Amino acid sequence: MGSQMSQVEGVHVVVVGGGFGGIAAAQDLKSRGLDFTLIDMRDAFHHNVAALRASVQPGFAKRTFIPYAETFGDSFVQGRVERVETDRQTVVLQGGREIQYSHLILCTGTDGPFPGKFNTVASYQTAVQAYEDFIKQVQAADSVLVVGGGSTGVEMAAEIKTEYPDKKVVLIHSRIGLADPELLSSVRQQAKEVLLEKGVELLLGQKVSNLSELQLNVTQKNMKVSTDKGETIETDLIICCTGLRVNAAAYTSGLGGSMTDSGALKVNQQLQVDGFSNVYAVGDCNNIDEPKMAYHAGLHAAVAVSNISNSLSGKELTSYQTGNITMLLAMGRDDGVGQFNGLKLPRCLVALGKSRDLLLWKSWREMKQKQP
Ligand SMILES: Cc1cc2nc3c(=O)[nH]c(=O)nc-3n(C[C@H](O)[C@H](O)[C@H](O)COP(=O)(O)OP(=O)(O)OC[C@H]3O[C@@H](n4cnc5c(N)ncnc54)[C@H](O)[C@@H]3O)c2cc1C
Repeated sequence: MGSQMSQVEGVHVVVVGGGFGGIAAAQDLKSRGLDFTLIDMRDAFHHNVAALRASVQPGFAKRTFIPYAETFGDSFVQGRVERVETDRQTVVLQGGREIQYSHLILCTGTDGPFPGKFNTVASYQTAVQAYEDFIKQVQAADSVLVVGGGSTGVEMAAEIKTEYPDKKVVLIHSRIGLADPELLSSVRQQAKEVLLEKGVELLLGQKVSNLSELQLNVTQKNMKVSTDKGETIETDLIICCTGLRVNAAAYTSGLGGSMTDSGALKVNQQLQVDGFSNVYAVGDCNNIDEPKMAYHAGLHAAVAVSNISNSLSGKELTSYQTGNITMLLAMGRDDGVGQFNGLKLPRCLVALGKSRDLLLWKSWREMKQKQP
């Protein structure tokens, strides 16, 4: 966080997207006394790192959404940004409302399947209820198939088996190695061991071949799932944990020339979008080559806000550097695997540091609100 600046005339920073990157940027701008507007399509920040626990443990979801207005007051605007007009330095919201910016921070993140992501326009109450309703589907199933063994799928399978040890849980993954490829191989191996210890069945090196014909997230007894290796699995509930896509809709028309094929914004080391010195991209929606993580989104936000502040006072801009990877996987509330600064951590330490609370305290503290 930087030092307090008095409001600078003509400066209005617009932050699009209130995920991990967006709330960090907004808090930093607030503490520096810089005029800003934070825009998100929902009325509450989603701590989606804890979304998988909210999918299995009744009463947990209300802790995973944090209302924006209580923290940011009139500096928060709820709405979906439809386009950015760089020539007029204006963002245009659905319905036609326009907000002008001197500097823009784009933090629109990624979208993906529920329950890992919840990027639907919904009120706090509706969002919480969606998770409580989903728990009933999990509870009604005797068997669950988790599709995709990246970090989200690994955590999902572990959460279900921890909360409901009597259910049959199968994790299918197209590759042999589980979790993020950027993790140390010893950490990935340990994730596999924990799943097996918990009783999760693994189908590795296989893909579901009829996924588009199957209903996700709804319990139906004995659905037949085929794999590309000719196996058939019967399951009551299918949860998909693959296929994150960059949320580029807000800026495709205005910044299409600065996008990669995946929709990510090309940025320089100062996190400025290619061709625009007053537009920054932070978090999952930029093209920095590193694991897409909430942790990194927060670090990007600090660099973007520092650089806005530095550019106003004529100082040199700061560069972003990816450090050694720190990544912690919660394997249910009682176990975890991970690495800190490139070094493998003991399971008990990850369980204590991350798995019990999923770092919810950090976001509630950042939003300066009391956890329910
Ligand atoms: C299940 C799961 C577990 C994870 N666990 C971890 C973890 O343990 N540690 C970790 O570091 N990372 C973790 N991650 C990754 C982490 O969640 C992301 O990297 C992080 O959310 C990225 O933050 P962001 O601010 O870039 O985007 P997001 O958090 O995706 O937020 C984007 C925001 O932009 C808003 N938005 C998008 N488009 C518009 C628009 N057009 N108009 C208005 N608003 C818009 C959305 O509503 C959303 O609030 C996990 C991810 C998943 C799915």
